[in-house]
Amino acid sequence: MSDLPSRDLLIVGAGFSGLYMLHLARGLGLSARVLEAGDGVGGTWYWNRYPGARCDVESMQYSYQFSDELQQEWEWTERYASQPEILRYLNHVADRFGLRRDIQFNARVRAAEFDEARDHWVVSTEAGQQLTARFLVMATGCLSATNIPDFPGLGSFGGPTFHTGRWPHEPVDFTGQRVGIIGTGSSGVQSIPVIARQARELLVFQRTATWTVPAQNRPLSAEEQQAVKADYAGFRQRISLMNAAIGSAFPEDGNGVERLALDADPADRARIYEERWQHGGLPFIWAFTDLYTDLQANETAAEFTRGKIREIVKDPGVAKRLTPTNVMGCKRLCVDTGYYATFNRDNVHLVDVSESPIEEITPRGLRAGGREYALDCMIFATGFDAMTGSLTRIDIRGRGGQSLAEAWAEGPRAYLGLGVAGFPNLFLVTGPGSPSVLTNMVVAIEQNVEWIADCLEYLSRNDKQRIEATTQAQEGWEIGRASCRERV
Ligand code: FAD
Repeated sequence: MSDLPSRDLLIVGAGFSGLYMLHLARGLGLSARVLEAGDGVGGTWYWNRYPGARCDVESMQYSYQFSDELQQEWEWTERYASQPEILRYLNHVADRFGLRRDIQFNARVRAAEFDEARDHWVVSTEAGQQLTARFLVMATGCLSATNIPDFPGLGSFGGPTFHTGRWPHEPVDFTGQRVGIIGTGSSGVQSIPVIARQARELLVFQRTATWTVPAQNRPLSAEEQQAVKADYAGFRQRISLMNAAIGSAFPEDGNGVERLALDADPADRARIYEERWQHGGLPFIWAFTDLYTDLQANETAAEFTRGKIREIVKDPGVAKRLTPTNVMGCKRLCVDTGYYATFNRDNVHLVDVSESPIEEITPRGLRAGGREYALDCMIFATGFDAMTGSLTRIDIRGRGGQSLAEAWAEGPRAYLGLGVAGFPNLFLVTGPGSPSVLTNMVVAIEQNVEWIADCLEYLSRNDKQRIEATTQAQEGWEIGRASCRERV
């Protein structure tokens, strides 16, 4: 083997992160290649084709801002884009910037090992291919390693099974079927109303009720798009100062002035919540600045939402079971279209498995609380091995042969979420400890990818072969984050 790696950069993953990384690497004159497990670009939006899959950030915002030509020419059709539309957009990006010629599809990375003598990474795919590169960028996604709980009897079910994150490319027809869906996180909340309209019966197995607010989705008018496009840069700049880099139509969300729920007159507070509920989307939780910092304040938003659930869901017992008991917004809110009202349908049954959990999957269906539920097909809306799964499922080895999975056995540690001590020349996009899933992720991704590109440019300009986060810097970042959490 020669001392020189075969290219400057290998990128794993061809979603929003990998595509932009490739584009910037080329701009720097670096030789780069993307390895992607799927047979197309899009990442999240390639895999998650379940009915109702949709973005919770408005489409004029959930898009790249690095190219004004791109953002001017692309037309979004709805306020919140559906999965097929985002996938079309990412395919357009791949074509427009000629990215496909450096992307190898159907190439799942199995292992990556840092060769200390040569300062490069040796990357192996499941098909047995080996590639080398000076730098390795893991654009493998925070929510891309699917999770199915290890239920006894898994695999014994006689009917078809689906995971929302590995949905077939062809439409699935549930007409006339008794469908069971396990999980009421974001994917469940989005798909349940759509599947309920087609299935003969839908059984929803819920362990934890979810806080969800209405999207109030609608077509996007040409005038609205034009208004943004007239000053897209200004629009992006204003949004970058707002909560989670998610724009809101309420100007007070970005003005830095405190408005406290506990100071507000109860009638005014109710009016403000109602206005945001009717407007739709995530800005509901930014109605007051103390909702994330004061439990009593948070309770006012929770009580308003409980009232909405009681108002919408006709059966008081079902309404109660659909009402979350955790703090509102401690997990990202879900954004839905007709979720609570779906439970008024005669063909939808909520099965609470919080106290009597799913015991086993059986050839006919599943058993929970001592009762067997017969099903024609089963959907796992059970989410992901989030944040670390897509990284620890690869055998990544850094200095001294140390494995990333072992280094993170007590919990992940990463400097800025971008680099890991002991793993030279390895970059993570939106890795653990970065704001990532708390934000409009495209903004977080662009910021991370630009940081990595700046770093690569610096190394190349200064003829440096190696970079690595120090343990001190990594711990400093973790301590800083922990003290922020304590202050909150
Ligand atoms: P991904 O899009 O996950 O792409 C990672 C790619 O890496 C995948 O194509 C995968 O196949 C590939 N890969 C992984 N491991 C390997 C391997 N070993 N070898 C080769 N290839 C590999 N964010 C928001 O801001 N708003 C939303 O509304 C929103 N909705 C979402 C809905 C769902 C159902 C999910 C799952 C996520 C959602 N997200 C949302 C988060 C979303 O993941 C990000 O917004 C964004 O798409 C992430 O892009 P990415 O390129 O970083 O990762």
